[in-house]
Amino acid sequence: MPTLEGMATRRRIPIGNRAPGTGRLGAVLFDMDGTLVESEQHWGEAMAELAARLGGAMSAAARERTVGTSMRFAMSVLYDDLGVERSEGDYRADARWVEDRTRELMAAGTHWRPGARELLTEVVAAGLPTALVTTTPRRIASVVLAQIADDVGGDPFDLTVCGDEVPARKPDPAPYRQAMAGLGVEPACSVVIEDSLAGVTSGLSAGAAVLGVPSLQTLAPAPGLTLRDSLEGVGLAELAEVLAARDEDDPAA
Ligand SMILES: [Mg+2]
Repeated sequence: MPTLEGMATRRRIPIGNRAPGTGRLGAVLFDMDGTLVESEQHWGEAMAELAARLGGAMSAAARERTVGTSMRFAMSVLYDDLGVERSEGDYRADARWVEDRTRELMAAGTHWRPGARELLTEVVAAGLPTALVTTTPRRIASVVLAQIADDVGGDPFDLTVCGDEVPARKPDPAPYRQAMAGLGVEPACSVVIEDSLAGVTSGLSAGAAVLGVPSLQTLAPAPGLTLRDSLEGVGLAELAEVLAARDEDDPAA
C-alpha cells in the first residue's frame, strides 16, 4: 500500500500553492465512525450484546436512532426499546461495558469506508488542514487512530477532537466549532464529512458546508448539505463543489 511519508511533520502548503480547482476550500473535517471506518457495526454489536445481557433484543429501529449519538442518548433509546428501568449507577456500568466491548471489537481491526482512505490521502497530500471530530471517547478513538496512522504511514490529522473533550456532543455545534477554532479556519471555508443525522446537524450548525454520506441512517436534504452514496470518486474538486453548493443555498455564508 502507498504511504504518506512524513505526514505527521508535514507543513501546510500556503493557499496560493494548493492544488488547482479547490477554490477557497480551507479545511476538511472528518467524522470517524461510519464515515472514515466501518466501526458503527462494532458499537451496534456491543449494544446488541448488552441488550441480550439485559434479557432482550434491540430492535433495528432503535439501533438506527442511536447512530452517531452520545452514549447517554443511545442508552436511553436502548432502555426504552427493551422496556427496562435502570438506575444512574446501572447506566454508568452499562455504558462502560459497551465502551469496553466496542474497544475490544475495534482493536481486532476496522476497515475503511469505500473511498475514505483515498480522499483522506488526497486532502493531506494537498496540504489542507484536517481534523477528526468524533463523539467516541479518546480511549476508544485512539485504537482506530493508531490503525489509520499505521495504514497511511503517519498521523494524517492536524487535530483530533473526541467526545470526552468537548462541552457538548453532536448534534451540538461545539465539537466542530472547537475543531475549526483549533485549526484556525473559518466555517465558510470548511467542509465537514459525516454519515449520521447528529453529525450533519452539528456540522451545519457550526457553519460548515457538509458532505453527507449515509451509512446506517437515511439523511434528508438540507441547505448546506450535499449528499453522496459513498466517498468513492470524491476528491478535492468534489469537496470544492460542496462549498460552492452551500454558497448557492445561502449566499450570505
Ligand atoms: Mg458517524
